[in-house]
Formats: sequence, structure tokens, C-alpha cells
Amino acid sequence: MARYIGPVCRLCRREGMKLFLKGERCYTEKCAIEKRNLPPGQHGKLRKAKLVGYGLQLREKQKVKRIYGVLENQFRRYFEMADRTRGITGETLLQLLERRLDNVIYRLGLATSRAQARQLVRHGHFLVNGRKVDVPSFSVKAGDVVSVRGGSAQNATIVHAMEEVKGRGIPEWLSFDAGQLAGRVSSLPTREQINLPVQEQLIVELYSK
Ligand code: SF4
Repeated sequence: MARYIGPVCRLCRREGMKLFLKGERCYTEKCAIEKRNLPPGQHGKLRKAKLVGYGLQLREKQKVKRIYGVLENQFRRYFEMADRTRGITGETLLQLLERRLDNVIYRLGLATSRAQARQLVRHGHFLVNGRKVDVPSFSVKAGDVVSVRGGSAQNATIVHAMEEVKGRGIPEWLSFDAGQLAGRVSSLPTREQINLPVQEQLIVELYSK
């Protein structure tokens, strides 16, 4: 499965905002956005033009793709799926992305970033409804139970992540039992429950041209 393997802070600098791609570092003063919030590249300092129209729509799409670690073809498939579904396309798109197993693991606080969650899922550390699932894009449903596999309960990365993200809270549509190391999808997320500073309508406009 293809994925972006280049420098991730560069992606935040390109979007001009924190995308929280690096886990713990994003919450320290070492964050590149805190130190130097300029677009990457030799001419970064000169790029001050105000974005309108297509430029704005493109940046919004790139931002969402980068937050969830999804590449173009897969992102377009999510859009097409959202477009075929009854409801508000932009909101459905975000809901589909939130339902990815790697995102759920991250939201439950079992990984410090979505990239780390993706790797942990790939390594087979999680169960969904008691069955091992090692596909990061697996889409959870309301009522699903996501748990850490018995043998992975002492996994250093998971233990460290749980310590690290303690107190950050989990979204209302999920619940977590720390004793059982299991989370439940109480309901599918609504737009209000998806805490993302993006204007999804711009992505719909971009793909609808
Ligand atoms: Fe983005 Fe995190 Fe890097 Fe800051 S530390 S620029 S939020 S990836």
C-alpha cells in the first residue's frame, strides 16, 4: 500500500497550520510551525499571495488528505463513495475518513499519531469484534468494538502512547475502557464531533468541476 514517506513537517508548513502528523513533537516548541511557519522551499518567504477559487479548494483537499495520510486515488474513491451516499457529501466524506481503523486507534489514544496507528494496525496488534484486522483503511461501524490483542497489551509503543496522550480526551462518538484496552464505536461521528478546522464544502466544489 503506497504512502507518503517524505518529511511530514514540510506538509504542515505548506498548509500553514499544524496537521499533527508527528505525535508528541507536535505539542512541543520543537514543532516546525511554532519555530518557522513559512511555506517550504527556497521561495517560501515570498509566497504571500492570498488564495482564492481553485487554489483555496486545492489546499483544503490537500490538508484533509495529509491529516488522514491518504493518497490521491484513495481519497478520490472516498469522495466518490460520499457522493453516492445520501446526505451532505462533504460531511459524509469526513465521516468515512474518521471511520478508518487507523484513525479510530489514534482517536482512542492507542497511538500518538495516525501514522503510528497505521503501522500498529499493519503489525496486527488490534482486533475488531474479536477478530484480527490488519488493514488500516478498514471502516468501523456503530457498535464495533476495537481492542488490543492479548499478546500486544504490553507493547511498548502502545503503552507509551497511552501515557503520552493521557488527558487529551476522546471524541463523543467513541468510548474507551482502559482496563480492557478496548474502545467502542458508540455511533458514527457527526460533523460537530469531528474536530477539524477544514471547509469540506471546498473539496466538494473542487471535485464537482
Ligand atoms: Fe506538523 Fe507536528 Fe511537524 Fe509541527 S511537529 S510541523 S504539527 S508534523
